[in-house]
Amino acid sequence: MVFNGHTHVVGVIGHPITHTVSPSMHHAAYDFLGLNYAFVPFDVAPNRLAEAVAGIRALSLVGVNVTVPYKESVIPYLDDLDPVARQIGAVNVICNVDGRLIGYNTDGDGFVASAKLCCDVDFSGKKVVIIGAGGAAKGIAFAMLAAGISELTILNRTRDRAEALVAQLTSGHVRAISLSEDLSGAYEALRRAHIVVQTTPVGMRSDESPLVDFSWVIPGQVCVDIIYRPKETLFLKEAEEAGARILNGEGMLAGQGQLAFRLFTGQDVPFEIMYNSVISN
Ligand code: NAP
Repeated sequence: MVFNGHTHVVGVIGHPITHTVSPSMHHAAYDFLGLNYAFVPFDVAPNRLAEAVAGIRALSLVGVNVTVPYKESVIPYLDDLDPVARQIGAVNVICNVDGRLIGYNTDGDGFVASAKLCCDVDFSGKKVVIIGAGGAAKGIAFAMLAAGISELTILNRTRDRAEALVAQLTSGHVRAISLSEDLSGAYEALRRAHIVVQTTPVGMRSDESPLVDFSWVIPGQVCVDIIYRPKETLFLKEAEEAGARILNGEGMLAGQGQLAFRLFTGQDVPFEIMYNSVISN
């Protein structure tokens, strides 16, 4: 594609940004639909976030994806939030609507949609455990409750953060367990779960897992790790060896990207176009 005066520019802001696969994923979709768009990664230093956001307006960008570490800290610079982003308190998409910057969060809905598409996961009536209570866990928890899960247990290293998330979810079927203080309660919840979602970054940089014992795994149980590099974390390897059906974070990445693509372009692209780009990278 040769860019010209009609090219619409989209970006992703984060720090660092060298790992991002979003440009190739979005370009696969532009190529598929024949759209004159360019998707550019921007490494934004922490003390220049306000200028970077002003640049979205000044350069008339269509919008940007937002990644670590700016999903929460970018909110004060925006003009408005859609209801989902407001509820979660984090944004991964900013759209520039005639100079007004609107924040969205497509992480949770992208997770739910991709789990259905990649692994035929049905959330309705299921007991679920989430490991972790950070930004990603929050979006996934709201989306799974909306998709009809019957019970949710948040396992987190720090009890206060898990309890804060439970309070925010305002559902009678959600509880918090501290991995540091009640390991036997945590394993009991894992044994009872139909679906387990690992959302901590543990496993990204080394052969580490947030859990050491996998005797709780029941054959056929669905175990998801939202980390996408490495493709198979130690958590997924151990869960699979114990008989679980496993899913990594590549599906969620493509799922949130597909929803972001619709917000940026107003058009739909098949999930497979973005997913195939992610898994081949
Ligand atoms: P975050 O807000 O910083 O939350 C991190 C969570 O992990 C917290 O609950 C934290 O527990 C826990 N944690 C961190 N280090 C730990 C350790 N050594 N042992 C036990 N628990 C630990 O991060 P996030 O934005 O939610 O992102 C989490 C992961 O999801 C990252 O790997 C990110 O790349 C991935 N992600 C993937 C996608 C995708 O599309 N596939 C999308 C978003 C995020 P404490 O509360 O105790 O600190």
